[in-house]
Amino acid sequence: MDIRIDTHVHTIASGHAYSVLSDYVRVAVEKGIEMFALTDHGPAMPGSPHLYHLANQVVIPEVMDGVEILKGVEANIIDYDGEIDIPNYILKSLDIVLASLHPPCLEAGTVEENTSALTNAIRSGKIDIIGHPGNPAFEIDIYEVVRCAKEYNVALEINSGSFRGSRVTSWDNCVDIARACKEIGTFVTTGSDSHLHCHLGEFGKIYKIFEEVDFPLELVVTESKEKLKEFLSSRR
Ligand SMILES: [Zn+2]
Ligand SMILES: [Zn+2]
Repeated sequence: MDIRIDTHVHTIASGHAYSVLSDYVRVAVEKGIEMFALTDHGPAMPGSPHLYHLANQVVIPEVMDGVEILKGVEANIIDYDGEIDIPNYILKSLDIVLASLHPPCLEAGTVEENTSALTNAIRSGKIDIIGHPGNPAFEIDIYEVVRCAKEYNVALEINSGSFRGSRVTSWDNCVDIARACKEIGTFVTTGSDSHLHCHLGEFGKIYKIFEEVDFPLELVVTESKEKLKEFLSSRR
C-alpha cells in the first residue's frame, strides 16, 4: 500500500509544532507526497494561532513545487453538543475542516457524552473529517459514530501520529473503527498528525491496521487527489 496524501499536518503556528510550510513542501517532494492539508489547531488549544492565520491561508498557493496544498484547520470540539471553535465565516474560506477532541479544550466525559460530542459535530455539517476518533482518552460508542459519519458523509481519520506520541494506546480502537467502517461503508482518511516535517506521510501503522481488517481501498478517500477533491466538493 502506498498512500501519498496526508490530511493532517501542523506547522509552528500550532504553538507546539516545529516546522514551517516550506519544510513540509521540501519533504513532500523528497517522499513523493502529492498533497497534504495544513491543519493547525483552532483557537481553544493553548498556543494556537489567531483566526486571521487560518483565514489568511488564501495567500498560500494551491501548488508549491508540484505538491498540492489544502488549507484547513483542526478545530476543537468544545462541548458535548459538538460545537467547534471556528466561526462559519472562517470555515467558508477553508478547503478542509477536521474536528477533534482534545483534553485541554473539552474534558473527557462518559462514553455517551463523548459519542454525542462527535455525532453532534458530524451532524452540524461544518466538518469534513473527525480527527483521531480512536483516542482512548475519549471512549466512544464506535458503531454509533461510524453509522452517523456514514449517514452525513463525514470521514473518520485513521491517525498514525497517535502511535508516535500522546495516544499510543489507540491501536485497538483504531482497528475496531476500521472494521466498523468497512462493515458500514464509512469513508476514512489517512493523517500523520505531523508536528515535525519529517513525519509527513508516515503511514506504516495505518497500513498495518488496513491489513489487519482487510480494509477496502475504495473507502479510503486519500487514495487519490481526485477522490479526496470529489469527497470535499460533495460536502460543500
Ligand atoms: Zn488532534
Ligand atoms: Zn493534530
